[in-house]
Amino acid sequence: MINIAIDGPSGAGKSTIARRVAKDLGFIYIDTGAMYRTVGLAAVNAGLDPKKDIGEIIKLLDKTDIDISHKGGEQRMLLNGADVSDQIRTPIISIAASDVGVIPEVRQKMLELQRAMADKHNCIMDGRDIGTYVLPNAKIKIFLTADVEDRARRRYEELMSKGEKVSYEDVLADMKYRDNNDSSRECMPLKKADDATLINTTGFELEKSVKLISDFIRKNL
Ligand code: C5P
Repeated sequence: MINIAIDGPSGAGKSTIARRVAKDLGFIYIDTGAMYRTVGLAAVNAGLDPKKDIGEIIKLLDKTDIDISHKGGEQRMLLNGADVSDQIRTPIISIAASDVGVIPEVRQKMLELQRAMADKHNCIMDGRDIGTYVLPNAKIKIFLTADVEDRARRRYEELMSKGEKVSYEDVLADMKYRDNNDSSRECMPLKKADDATLINTTGFELEKSVKLISDFIRKNL
């Protein structure tokens, strides 16, 4: 199977770009952030504090069924059989995902699910630790980034267009919180793999980034 890894901080455009390129290539797109978000949602729904109730979250994980389906090319997240793909996109769940992502037992379970999918499908997988830990032998590895203000502005516009009531300052603060959490955790932190290609999209329009990455992948496949 051919596996492509795209890592980078929140809001760098990984998911939009990976989804588009995967469609062009006929690969499946695997959004690993959605998996962490689903664990975060499970914890919040159970009344747990994702930052403090570590032991309870580990126990909950054993009783929780997390599944991905790819209906019509779109990834849908299932939590104990219920489709939670929309519920996991709120600012509260963004932070919860980042907090549960610090727990080694959560990361180990996600890693196993992700590797099992990559074994079965040609895929583009995006996340934080794909090129470094999940798929160290991926055929192509990209580390996609942009300045934090640029990433916050894009995420703010995306949330506004969905009708979420947020301020730019809050989105920027969340992004800085997650950047710090993701890069400073001990287990599988956000880090560029030595053999990944660094692409910085600061100031780029989305279409320009999609074309750049699509051309890069096609050339290196
Ligand atoms: O990519 P997305 O912003 O949806 O991810 C939500 C959170 O899940 C991230 O802030 C990060 O903390 C966590 N995550 C992770 N490892 C991944 C993907 C996401 O820790 N491979």
